Amino acid sequence: MAEAYAWIEQSLNTIRRANWYRSPQLIASKAGAEVIINDRSVLMFASNNYLGLAGDQRLIDAAIAACQAYGTGATGSRLVSGHLPLHQELEQTIANLKQTEAALVFSSGYLANIGTIAALVGKRDLILGDVYNHSCLKNGAILSGATVLDYGHSDLADLGNKLAQQRSQFRRCLITTDSVFSMDGDLAPLTEIMALAEKYDCMVLVDEAHATGVFGDRGAGLVNALGIKQPLIQVGTLSKALGSLGGYVAGSAQLIDFLRNRAASWIYTTGLSPADTAAAIAAIKIINTEPERRHQLWQNLELLKKQLAQANIIAIATESPIVAIEVGDIATTLAIAAQLKEKGLFAPAIRPPTVPTPRIRLTLIATHTEAQINHLAGCLKQAVEKTKP
Ligand SMILES: *Cc1c(COP(=O)(O)O)cnc(C)c1O
Repeated sequence: MAEAYAWIEQSLNTIRRANWYRSPQLIASKAGAEVIINDRSVLMFASNNYLGLAGDQRLIDAAIAACQAYGTGATGSRLVSGHLPLHQELEQTIANLKQTEAALVFSSGYLANIGTIAALVGKRDLILGDVYNHSCLKNGAILSGATVLDYGHSDLADLGNKLAQQRSQFRRCLITTDSVFSMDGDLAPLTEIMALAEKYDCMVLVDEAHATGVFGDRGAGLVNALGIKQPLIQVGTLSKALGSLGGYVAGSAQLIDFLRNRAASWIYTTGLSPADTAAAIAAIKIINTEPERRHQLWQNLELLKKQLAQANIIAIATESPIVAIEVGDIATTLAIAAQLKEKGLFAPAIRPPTVPTPRIRLTLIATHTEAQINHLAGCLKQAVEKTKP
């Protein structure tokens, strides 16, 4: 019997030999710019907590109050016993933020994408996705049963060629892209993608996971910041800048009505917990009323850019609070991450198979101080110089 599982050990050994082995890191404190790792205070440069809201007392209080009022669990799927006034309020709040007719919350951003893509297209249809899209856009595409083609990263010529060659052979076509790419931190050319979509009669799904709360003068995301007005499908998460857990889709009332009837990952899963729902509502209220948090985040990015330039360290992109730095092969990147950790900085190495090339991936928080960012840049410079031959 045990023989049937022997392949798992072999597989793990292969993963280790390739330097691909990963394991989670215990964070033993409240979310924030400073956390406790291995009994030690460490500066966090790896979280998606862009506005510092995951540790905000107002979100904590809202979550506690929701637990007191509604209990800990939603008790069932939204269509059966798990639909709460809080869900309605959150969906209205998201629609207001995104300036769409309606919105629908899922239990995670991953589930929002998988369920939405699989509901929108099927066997007779085509999906064209950016090759650097997040895992959930790719797996949603596979699940849909549609023909799936990747186009080169933000490569409009490639996307245009593929549309010209393929579009007419399919019933519906869906173009999918991250708005801020999660591992490189660069931005998708959304305006140009929308123009191609109009020309070839395609739907567009934009994943605003890293843009919501961060881009636009109201924090509504990159679609809003670019002033895009055509119909499209906006997906995102409640678990990054919003500091909670869950995902959403925002769009027309008909789209949302359709998803409530067809998105399996919404229909057949338990409604979002009262605590997570209330925390997300509180977060969007803060995003609406405290633009200074967003401004501070962008100021922190300006400071980091300046420091990296002075240290001659080149980032893949500096258009978002995700700053990825290529410093060498996998072993070198791991060594630099280890040196940073030694100095009390958590800025991990991200490597294949997650990304094609290894890099140190930094993410900024609005609540990082100037001194903390200066310290990061100084240690990074030292670590990079130490690994040079
Ligand atoms: C994090 C992320 C998701 C998943 O969101 P969760 O709510 O954490 O499941 C989806 N898309 C992108 C681009 C992401 O970065």
